[in-house]
Amino acid sequence: GDIAQEVEVVVIGGGPGGYVAAIRAAQLGKEVVLIDKDELGGVCLNRGCIPSKALIHAAKMAEHARHAGEIGIKVGSVEVDMGEVQGWKEGVVRKLTGGVSSLLKANGVTVVNGNAVLMADNRVAVEKENGMEYFKFEHCILATGSRPVQIPSFPFDGEYILSSTEALALTDVPPTMLVIGGGYIGLELGTAFAKLGSQVTVVEMADYLLPGFEPSLTQTVKKNLRKLGVETLTQTGAKSYEIRDGKIHVTVDVKGEARTITADKVLVTVGRRPNTEELGLEQAGLSVNERGYIETDSKCRTKNAKIFAIGDIATGPMLAHKASKEGVVAAEVIAGHAAEMDVVAIPSVVFTDPEIASVGLSESEAKEKGYEVTVGKFPFAANGRALTTNEGDGFCQVIADAETGVLLGVHIVGPEASALIGEAALALEMGATADDVHLTVHPHPTLTESFMEAAADVMGVAVHMA
Ligand code: FAD
Repeated sequence: GDIAQEVEVVVIGGGPGGYVAAIRAAQLGKEVVLIDKDELGGVCLNRGCIPSKALIHAAKMAEHARHAGEIGIKVGSVEVDMGEVQGWKEGVVRKLTGGVSSLLKANGVTVVNGNAVLMADNRVAVEKENGMEYFKFEHCILATGSRPVQIPSFPFDGEYILSSTEALALTDVPPTMLVIGGGYIGLELGTAFAKLGSQVTVVEMADYLLPGFEPSLTQTVKKNLRKLGVETLTQTGAKSYEIRDGKIHVTVDVKGEARTITADKVLVTVGRRPNTEELGLEQAGLSVNERGYIETDSKCRTKNAKIFAIGDIATGPMLAHKASKEGVVAAEVIAGHAAEMDVVAIPSVVFTDPEIASVGLSESEAKEKGYEVTVGKFPFAANGRALTTNEGDGFCQVIADAETGVLLGVHIVGPEASALIGEAALALEMGATADDVHLTVHPHPTLTESFMEAAADVMGVAVHMA
């Protein structure tokens, strides 16, 4: 007899891609097994989005307390108890992973804890602590996520050379920290540790910090990093290191000149790699592209229509909300709905100080695509709400098609940019014009008025700007 249990849908990976897919498939009446070898919630909840944002918040509190005197609020000297910060952060993570577990249960999803390997295009084996379990499925959703890339010359050792996972778990604030890689994860954590009390240096190979974002968006962040005492070196590569007297001495090449940077910890954040190697893909007749990602169509199907791939292992931006959206699409396609990954744009956010948030095309991307554009801009220095919270740095920029006024992109650097971009994403998704946004009454005094005013600037009618 066949020892495999028959099940309609198997989901491998319980991150924001997989757990959302499992819940949605169950809502649509499917019998679902979700397999994860680790804690539910994936990278995002356990060692990504959530713990990093908790740490960033704690760091912001410390920094605000240090500067409270500037607006007349006297606080004694600020002390960071990193152990307590970690305890609080862990509590937040536990609440959320517990919530995921309850939701899965409430929807009747069977959760199996173990390592899944595909055996065929309709079969998966799970290595559990207490033995093996086999499933035969009608459909499978692969959502195994990603892990940090290691630089061969700086292997993670958990002591001096850390990945983001280990940095997020530090129970002491290192006096000095070198961050290799000035992408969003490096800058978010670098900023947080600087505010918690570390002397931070960031090195980046590219010409600009945050490669992928327009340099105009990162200028304010760079200025604030300087104020925080963070040194940022671009066109700089980390070459080698030596551990001596309890410190790590790193040789870097700054635009052709060698320099040594001494630190207590090195944080390596040079990218992430999809977890596709040990999944048994070849046994299911699947393969990956040259960068290790699984290619999918707009319905999140691999070349085998019964097997779907979503989230960080599938091509596209490695972001939690992209993973979740694909999870919903995959589950709905399996249930026979006419669902598709048909989005105008996926927003991206960098939780630096101030935050950067973008949706849609940048000015240069729009021009490359052949659009004639009108650009509107509004500075937070002219926004009442931003001044009342002492956060007047940055701006909101709106890129519109000159011919139709339809919004092509919105880019925000400033307070709560992460929250503000939601309205812009909705506007883009609905095909709104700059006029639609500027004619919409926005509440006063709020940061949202900056989007309305930037849209008005596209029309040449901004009131609060000369
Ligand atoms: P993952 O979350 O990686 O989950 C995959 C799951 O699959 C894991 O639980 C793993 O245990 C399991 N698994 C893997 N292989 C197997 C196997 N063979 N068998 C069983 N289980 C397996 N994104 C944002 O959108 N916003 C942010 O602010 C943000 N901040 C981040 C900060 C940091 C420090 C990091 C590292 C990432 C951040 N991300 C952020 C990225 C985000 O975490 C990922 O895009 C997201 O987690 C991807 O979701 P996923 O479901 O594809 O995979």
